[in-house]
Amino acid sequence: MGKREPLSPLTKWIVLYRDNFTCQKCGKKAIFKLWPGEPEDPNGPFCDLIVHHIEGPTSNDYDNLITLCQNCHFMVHGGSWKNKPIEKFNPRPITTEIIFEGMRDYYRRQDYVNDYFFRSMFNEYKKKVREVAKFIG
Ligand SMILES: [Zn+2]
Ligand SMILES: [Zn+2]
Repeated sequence: MGKREPLSPLTKWIVLYRDNFTCQKCGKKAIFKLWPGEPEDPNGPFCDLIVHHIEGPTSNDYDNLITLCQNCHFMVHGGSWKNKPIEKFNPRPITTEIIFEGMRDYYRRQDYVNDYFFRSMFNEYKKKVREVAKFIG
């Protein structure tokens, strides 16, 4: 098995977008998170579905990537994360439209999350200022 570049969050998101944020084995829909996953989060940003390498981790091409839920992903690897995939998939072919729409969706969500963080930080800051003011009297 050859080495490959890590999958970028944007590529993951475009695959999720192409697959309508739905597990391509059982049809489970994504559950979205309000905050981004950690950089190493295999689920990618803001959603609980997994982008799986169909022919093993040798290529990050779109036709080697498919959206699965955590359960189906585990099954496809024969019940162990270390096993080679035991089931093959035929993903929907990618188009430039899907790539552009997926990118737009990704950056729109990034902005939303940044806004969300900014607002919660600002509210926290205002609370602190009020507490200090009360303490000083
Ligand atoms: Zn599934
Ligand atoms: Zn996998």
